[in-house]
Amino acid sequence: MKFLIVGAGFSGLVAAHRLSNAGHTCTIVDRRPHLAGNAHDSHDKAGVLIHNYGPHYFRTNSQRILDYLSAFTEWHPVDYTIKSHTEGKYWSFPINLNTFEELIGKPATTADFEAYIAKHRHNIPDPKNSEEVILSQVGTRLYELFFEGYTLKQWKLHPRELDASVCGRIPIRTNRDDRYLAEEFQALPKHGYTALLENILADSPNTSLHLNTDFNEAREKFPHDHLVFTGAIDEYFGRKYGALPYRSLRFVHESFTAEQLIPREPISGKSGFWQPAMQVNYPGKKVPYTRIVEIKHATGQQIDASTIVREFPDDWDTSKEPYYPIPTPDAAAAYKKYAALAEAETNTTFIGRLATYRYYNMDQVTGMALAASEKLIKRFA
Ligand SMILES: Cc1cc2nc3c(=O)[nH]c(=O)nc-3n(C[C@H](O)[C@H](O)[C@H](O)COP(=O)(O)OP(=O)(O)OC[C@H]3O[C@@H](n4cnc5c(N)ncnc54)[C@H](O)[C@@H]3O)c2cc1C
Repeated sequence: MKFLIVGAGFSGLVAAHRLSNAGHTCTIVDRRPHLAGNAHDSHDKAGVLIHNYGPHYFRTNSQRILDYLSAFTEWHPVDYTIKSHTEGKYWSFPINLNTFEELIGKPATTADFEAYIAKHRHNIPDPKNSEEVILSQVGTRLYELFFEGYTLKQWKLHPRELDASVCGRIPIRTNRDDRYLAEEFQALPKHGYTALLENILADSPNTSLHLNTDFNEAREKFPHDHLVFTGAIDEYFGRKYGALPYRSLRFVHESFTAEQLIPREPISGKSGFWQPAMQVNYPGKKVPYTRIVEIKHATGQQIDASTIVREFPDDWDTSKEPYYPIPTPDAAAAYKKYAALAEAETNTTFIGRLATYRYYNMDQVTGMALAASEKLIKRFA
């Protein structure tokens, strides 16, 4: 069978790998000039390994997905720790006992923090949106300090307009555990995501990759028996029910030489870095960006330079990258109409983040691509 696969991100490349190893022929196209989709990483002019489309922190609880990917990469273990910067200082984040001490300006115990929470949390038994979920956990002061402004900037929506899951997924802890993420396995591919996905492609027989190639051009050029589509579902259907809403981002990069970094040492507390952590959130309403990422903290690259990236949330239109589906009930309802059309297509399989209009992490889309390929292999056996 001949498969045409649109998108050379995790979804498309994993699908091509499984299908081609089952004896099928795969043609992959991507309109971008590189593979790896939003997980693409590369060395910038300063020689620093950067994540081109925002920081990608690999983590998973799935041994099966980890085993699959580990055939193509070694791992560089990372403790993903971040900070928040607001009211003129750095704070521990996600909220934990250290954050509470920073708030009250003196040492405290878990019992003290629990007593604070019991006194300040709002009594909302069944939180229905992102505002209610945080107010019900920690109360107004911590909600306003870390969540309200950040969410308004990120989504251009008030937390009360967003699903409870958006802010609800950020852990709140009363101990000193300040890890950003909760998954069991947390590490970056030792040589980056691009190298990992290049290795997957190299292990895919009868597979060709065509970059700078849009689906519109490819659908005629590459005859196929079945299509695997990992692009935006509304675009596939010509936006016949209107465009689905997305949020876009603007990344502003700035590189520093070793000499420029050293004077900043008193700020960062570490030499060779610009800021004290891999990621610093800026929840204040007056700062136009949401975070500054200095990925060198996580990659462990040994280099006398560093690059920071300021991330500015941006309105989406069709000339921009659709980074995030919008997690509101209205958007979910609009997607359902397209999902019904997709359901009726017998010769196209829709997988990945854009084709299912859902924010998925890399391990989740890997799992989705593995499952969809197994189904297709059985169907076309
Ligand atoms: C800012 C940001 C931060 C993230 N951080 C994390 C993180 O920390 N950890 C994590 O696990 N995940 C993270 N993710 C999610 C991660 O990027 C996705 O899980 C993953 O990239 C999804 O892979 P995919 O192949 O489904 O989609 P994509 O990576 O988006 O790949 C789809 C590809 O299809 C191509 N394409 C689309 N339409 C067409 C068309 N019509 N013709 C030709 N080509 C087309 C696109 O150019 C793209 O290369 C983050 C995402 C963003 C945006």
